[in-house]
Amino acid sequence: MADGSGPFDIVVLGGGSGGYACALRAAELGKSVALIEKGKVGGTCLHNGCIPTKALLHAAELADQAREGEAFGVKTRFDGIDVPGVLAYKDKVINGLWKGLTGLIKSKKITVIEGEGRVIGPNRVIVDGQVYEGTNLVLATGSAAKSLPGLDIDGSKVITSDHALVLDRVPTSVVVLGGGVIGVEFASVWRSFGAEVTIVEALPHLLPLEDEANSKLLERAFRRRGIKYELGARFDSVKTTDTGVVVSLENGKTLDAELLLVAVGRGPVSAGLGFETAGVTLDRGYVLVDELCRTGVPGVYAVGDLIPTPQLAHVGFAEGILVAEQIAGLNPVAIDYDGVPRITYSEPEVAAVGISSAQARERGFDVVELTYNLAGNGRSKILQTQGEVKVVAERDGRVLGVHMVGGRVGELIAEAQLIYNWEATASDVAQLIHPHPTQSEALGEAMLALAGKPLHVHN
Ligand SMILES: Cc1cc2nc3c(=O)[nH]c(=O)nc-3n(C[C@H](O)[C@H](O)[C@H](O)COP(=O)(O)OP(=O)(O)OC[C@H]3O[C@@H](n4cnc5c(N)ncnc54)[C@H](O)[C@@H]3O)c2cc1C
Repeated sequence: MADGSGPFDIVVLGGGSGGYACALRAAELGKSVALIEKGKVGGTCLHNGCIPTKALLHAAELADQAREGEAFGVKTRFDGIDVPGVLAYKDKVINGLWKGLTGLIKSKKITVIEGEGRVIGPNRVIVDGQVYEGTNLVLATGSAAKSLPGLDIDGSKVITSDHALVLDRVPTSVVVLGGGVIGVEFASVWRSFGAEVTIVEALPHLLPLEDEANSKLLERAFRRRGIKYELGARFDSVKTTDTGVVVSLENGKTLDAELLLVAVGRGPVSAGLGFETAGVTLDRGYVLVDELCRTGVPGVYAVGDLIPTPQLAHVGFAEGILVAEQIAGLNPVAIDYDGVPRITYSEPEVAAVGISSAQARERGFDVVELTYNLAGNGRSKILQTQGEVKVVAERDGRVLGVHMVGGRVGELIAEAQLIYNWEATASDVAQLIHPHPTQSEALGEAMLALAGKPLHVHN
């Protein structure tokens, strides 16, 4: 490795959640690793995704609390949003984490190569004219915001989440195209900051991938918050004007706003990167892999948003670790993607793990369901939040899914994911004591009720 170009045990292309997790775990297992990154290590999640959005959502929560202090007997006043202040807070969080990650990568003696890489063979990547060779190659170039045919992103009136995260003002009004996680989270932030918001979703519900009961609860809560939505409504066209945009829907309606946020999903970053020269198979830009993230070409793997698995940072982490452990000769088990917890961090939050009632029936389970209303939970009452915990289980069998809506319920999904992934039954969990008064009791109460011994349940 005299010139630092290899051969390395592993060359990782892309330093986001999937790529850097793979690099860290491989280095821990004694492998020599080159990590190629054209932007900043940490990728979308740290710089343009999970972390900045959650910082904005926290600022939004404080804004709501300032408005609502009176309901708790506290004298507060909402005087508005200092956007530069919010952006500075968000950037401080990102920079602190980035510094920590950079130090961690350095401490593991991973060779970081700055620049755009292109694959020129199953184990070779070229960056600025220099070729890096690895016994193994891990593709982890992630994803980017998509648009619709004929819908041009201009970055000022028609924007994506990347632009929204650095917007220098609170817009007076926004149309959010797409009622998935990203659209719903921005709608929530902007409403708390004082904007008029309308979400346009082509499918019949917001968060269409969630259990329908959760989607309906979110819709009700958003309606109460004054967030408007058009469901089952397809986008037709957008015209920019001096003051903003006019969005036309196929149903004939038009919506005027200052901004259009396009949040119609994210697509893989693979075009022009030479992946075909490595011999891997692509489908609509996604790299196809088996359940162990193997591309079919010996020694070539792909992880994260680049492959057609759930686009979540923790999925990227898990896939990166899975690949590193395989390369190191360990025998890791395939990921059960149903067992991956997912959270939408809006107000209220929506969190789930496992499968929905509808999916459980489709798969032939004899399904039982239990819905516990947060109205019966002391801590939720104190926080003045409404919502539900719904448990889907196999009759006399394991818990198949947990679906929740309510303030802070995202924190409860960690317990639910243990229940699902350890294949626990309601009776297994019912004997475990939950601390009082916490929101975790709602999950405990749901399990007690499902096990046939309800405590605080009104019939
Ligand atoms: C607004 C938003 C909010 C989100 N919120 C959450 C959340 O709350 N929780 C959650 O789990 N997930 C969230 N996500 C999703 C999460 O960010 C992604 O799932 C995750 O970042 C995927 O990791 P990755 O490593 O596959 O790709 P990325 O993080 O996109 O990383 C890929 C990296 O590869 C680099 N790269 C690409 N091409 C090249 C090349 N040719 N040469 C060198 N480097 C290259 C890129 O610069 C990038 O750093 C959010 C996403 C967005 C957009």
